[in-house]
Amino acid sequence: MRVKLLNAPIDCLSMDQSVERVAELISAGGPRRVITLNPEILYRAVQVDHDLLELINKADLVTADGEGIVWAGRVTGTPFPERVTGIDLMLRLVDRAAAEGWKVYLLGAAPGVAEDAAKQLTRRFPGLQVVGTQHGYFKSDEEVAIVQSIKQKGPQLLFVALGAPAQEKWIDRHIESIGHVVAVGVGGSFDVISG
Ligand code: UDP
Repeated sequence: MRVKLLNAPIDCLSMDQSVERVAELISAGGPRRVITLNPEILYRAVQVDHDLLELINKADLVTADGEGIVWAGRVTGTPFPERVTGIDLMLRLVDRAAAEGWKVYLLGAAPGVAEDAAKQLTRRFPGLQVVGTQHGYFKSDEEVAIVQSIKQKGPQLLFVALGAPAQEKWIDRHIESIGHVVAVGVGGSFDVISG
């Protein structure tokens, strides 16, 4: 079930169900967008950034990322099963990716961090295929080459760690050119995973 909170859609799904939904999106193919929605982003979208609100409305999966959102669901009578954060969802998806053979690409964070995160993840989830990494401090004239490189490597899952809402906007600008991929904005997750 999908509910509206302050005009933003949010899916009433547990972590397990969110992972299943992503698996379905991968099977269905096409460019797919996942947003883990925290209260700061929801507030910003509703109050000042209507383009962002449009992006949230376009997303294929929007998870309740924050106690504030889980609480708001409870008081408005549409409870969310649990909080589904970016990093938790990423780790669960990477685990599943190793089992299913989905290829993963990591875009974002400071130079070296995505590579370190990839090393940690492949150690932790044997069999995981990280097909590429790219840091998040590129110039705008480098974007076309980065997008081409992602497309050519053909990941099923693209994790974008540029901070919210920059990552959601980056995904929206480029996902149609990448094609068949599920893109998930994951904020500071690479910093955490890289240790
Ligand atoms: N970042 C980036 N490029 C930029 C700005 C930020 O790759 O131009 C990265 C930054 O290094 C960090 C992440 O984006 O890894 C943002 O993390 P933060 O915890 O601030 O994001 P949030 O979870 O609050 O969205």
